[in-house]
Amino acid sequence: MKRNMYDVIVVGTRVAGSPLAMLLARQGYRVLAVDRATFPSDTPSTHYIHQAGSGFLKSWGLLDRVVATGVPAIRHLNFSYTDIDIAGFARTAPDGVDAVYCPRRTALDTVLVEAAGEAGAELIQGFTVSGLVFDGDRVVGIRGSEAGGTEQEFRAKLVVGADGANSTVAKAVGAETYEGSAAACFIYYSYYDGVDWGMQHRTGFGEQQFAGWPTNDDQTLVAVMRKRDRFREFRQDPDAGVQEVVSQIDPELGELLRDKGTRAEPFRPMLYPDNYRRKSHGPGWALVGDAGYHKDPFTGWGITDAFKYAQLLSEKIHQGLSGARPLDEALAEYQVERDAQSASTYELTLSISELSLTPYYDSVFRATSMDEEYIKNFFGLIAGIYPPEKYFGEEELAALYEKVNFPLEARHVSKSGVTA
Ligand SMILES: Cc1cc2nc3c(=O)[nH]c(=O)nc-3n(C[C@H](O)[C@H](O)[C@H](O)COP(=O)(O)OP(=O)(O)OC[C@H]3O[C@@H](n4cnc5c(N)ncnc54)[C@H](O)[C@@H]3O)c2cc1C
Repeated sequence: MKRNMYDVIVVGTRVAGSPLAMLLARQGYRVLAVDRATFPSDTPSTHYIHQAGSGFLKSWGLLDRVVATGVPAIRHLNFSYTDIDIAGFARTAPDGVDAVYCPRRTALDTVLVEAAGEAGAELIQGFTVSGLVFDGDRVVGIRGSEAGGTEQEFRAKLVVGADGANSTVAKAVGAETYEGSAAACFIYYSYYDGVDWGMQHRTGFGEQQFAGWPTNDDQTLVAVMRKRDRFREFRQDPDAGVQEVVSQIDPELGELLRDKGTRAEPFRPMLYPDNYRRKSHGPGWALVGDAGYHKDPFTGWGITDAFKYAQLLSEKIHQGLSGARPLDEALAEYQVERDAQSASTYELTLSISELSLTPYYDSVFRATSMDEEYIKNFFGLIAGIYPPEKYFGEEELAALYEKVNFPLEARHVSKSGVTA
């Protein structure tokens, strides 16, 4: 029997919504979490989780459960951009996480939904939210229905939209976009047997990229990205297109794909959604995950950020609901902190997802590839465990250029074009 008054209602129960519901329920709040999907459920997304993301899973007691789904640990990464090759791995994170994982979303999201339920959140799957309930300008609940069912209404002190890029909650409250840019690429991906490449993230031979991520069931997710204006052409023959991109960027891996690889599932094609930040708080409502903030998947930060800011939001909600400070003030701070903490990743992602490097990033990555210690810093940076202000620090870069004897005219130490 569902109650109809809650502390918090969370709309959407994937990588943002379930952790939020779980964390609040663990604090003793009455939480209702609804999703129109029924789990296990797939969603269009590749699966890369940075060490920082696995760190959240570990701290919540869920990493072992994700690993137990059969997803392999990855401890060597091959990254290339044009003719720059960077291979290696980050140092072990302070919390002991020494691997990255690429679990299928059917596996990962189910672990998260179950954990929310075990923590005491009430869950309704197969429930579509059609609108919000308002009292003046304050959101006080949701309305919606299960398939074929009658409309139901549930009320709460706070409604959180964790309902993805096309967020119903964001639309209902009119959350404006205050930062944004058009997405650069499309993606085609599928699951392959017989492709034993390890982890590859390779950009080159023009504006295109392929990636290979070992995942559950001994399969590798192979993905190809190109600029959106080539989508129509690519759709004519995606198998040939994938083969062409891999062979052009790395002929050896192209041969392996041709000789040993078998595509095991249909392709998932997609034009990437645009990059944006939306206002993510207001009277009686908040947004988390892609509902409030999204950037190109190039750097694989969507899942890790969903975890990170679900935890941040849970702390702010706790401050508000426990009476330590006004809820609206705590929610406003959530957005400010989220934007500040994600600024560096957002900027880097938008720049390198254009599939060509600015002179600054070209110099930084090229010099990085020439020094083992800086390679570890690089992988630490993209893992979310090495500070951007150190990796991109002007003094640090000047020292790197000196150490690897980098050409004087190419020693960019800042995005404004300053050379060392
Ligand atoms: C092609 C692609 C590849 C990606 N690859 C990676 C990667 O390798 N690594 C990475 O970290 N990130 C990646 N991302 C980004 C990542 O997938 C997203 O950032 C992440 O899934 C966002 O999670 P979320 O929980 O905020 O939203 P979603 O995963 O979109 O979940 C929203 C949920 O809300 C539910 N919902 C929506 N509307 C309603 C409604 N009206 N009523 C009820 N329920 C509703 C939906 O059913 C859904 O379950 C990729 C994204 C794309 C598109």
